Formats: sequence, structure tokens, C-alpha cells
Amino acid sequence: NLSPRLKVVAGLVPKGSKVADIGSDHAYLAINLVKRGIAIGGVAGEVAKGPLTNSRNEIIKNAVDTKIDARLGDGLAVIDDADDIDVICIAGMGGLLIRRILDEGLERLKGVTRLVLQPNVGEYELREWLINHNFKITDEEIVAEDFHLYEIIVAEPGQMKLSEQQLIFGPILMNKNNQVYQNKWKKELLRLEKVQKNLESHPRHGEEKLRKTKLQIKRIEEMFD
Ligand code: SAM
Repeated sequence: NLSPRLKVVAGLVPKGSKVADIGSDHAYLAINLVKRGIAIGGVAGEVAKGPLTNSRNEIIKNAVDTKIDARLGDGLAVIDDADDIDVICIAGMGGLLIRRILDEGLERLKGVTRLVLQPNVGEYELREWLINHNFKITDEEIVAEDFHLYEIIVAEPGQMKLSEQQLIFGPILMNKNNQVYQNKWKKELLRLEKVQKNLESHPRHGEEKLRKTKLQIKRIEEMFD
């Protein structure tokens, strides 16, 4: 059974796809997709040997070893043209790491029709990379798990321009404006207001930081307006 976060990721993979799950850890995502008949097969990539062994064990235990190949390697280096991957999932890492993996694997993204990305942080930088590399954001979700609110970004080949506000909050999440999204930004607003108070009572800690914090607060308030 998948965690709420991975369940949402899995729900964004189209039926009939060949999937690469990069940073698969136990390969729960790929196994779930194949067992439910969503993915016809794929690759589970891992850079670390421990998680790779876990993936292999789980794949065998679930009798999907003819459909999912667990491979050791950095990022997209584990896939090649012969794999015919349609969808790449990268979940549970920082946005900067996901961005580096995509950037270094640019050549391998050519036949790919969809990216399903779940950055733990660094959503802004990831969106920025996507729109600067001929991807458009076609869907976004936000999900609560273990006291953290995770954003999931779906991107497909295409053109898109995003405003600063859309890069921060997510063009689709902003429109959906659901309860989980509102909770995330209300929580962030409270955190920033505390930071502001602290900085104001210790002015030596930096005018620049205070200026930035005030700007972040203003942006969230404007978004809620
Ligand atoms: N994707 C799973 C999830 O969302 O639950 C596992 C997330 S786990 C926190 C991150 C995994 O990514 C770790 O198993 C780690 O070894 C792997 N990883 C980190 N950097 C990687 C890279 N450059 N290429 C492939 N895997 C990587």
C-alpha cells in the first residue's frame, strides 16, 4: 500500500505507460503501478546500493521482475532509448536535486511525454527549470503526509510562461486554491511573521534578511487577496 503522497504521484501516471521511477528506494511506486495495470513495465533507478537491494527484493516478492528492472546509477543514466520510457517519476527529493537530475539527463528526456515530480522543497527552482527547458506544467497537486505538505508537479513537453507569483505558488495550485494549499501558505505566513518579529527585535541580524522576509510576507498576502 502506498503512502498518501505516493498515491497521488501514482494517480498522475497515465494507463499504458512505461515508467522510470528515479530514486525508487523500495520501488513501491513502480510495483504498485504495474500490479494495478497502469504501467506496462519500467525501470526503478537507484544511486545507492542499499535501496537498490530493497527494490530488487520487493520486485521479486511481488512477482513483477519480468516487468520492472531495478538498476544502479545516477539519475536518468539508468535509462536509454531502448527502454521506451514515456513517464518519469522523481519523488521524495529536494527540488534542486530533481533539477540537476533532469538537467544532466536532458538527452534522455526526448521521447518522454510526462514528468511526475514531487520535490520536498525547492518547487520554485524546479518550475523555473521546467519552463526554461520546453516543458509546460499541466497539473499540480498538494498532499499532506506526516505533518508536511508536499507539492506534486506534472510537466509535459511544450511552452509556458510563468509569472513570479506562479513560480512561487504553482500556476495550477493557485487556481485550485484548495484547503491543503491554503493551509500550507497560512502556515508559511505565520512562520515568516515570527522571523520578521525576531529580526526586528535584533536589528543587527541583517536588514537584507528583514527586507526579504517582508517581501515574502507581502507576496503571500497578495496571493490570498
Ligand atoms: N521515491 C521514493 C519516495 O518518494 O518515497 C523514495 C524517496 S527517498 C527519500 C530518495 C531516494 O532517492 C533515496 O533512496 C536515494 O538513494 C535516491 N537518490 C538520491 N539521489 C539520487 C540520484 N542522483 N539518482 C538516483 N537516485 C537517487
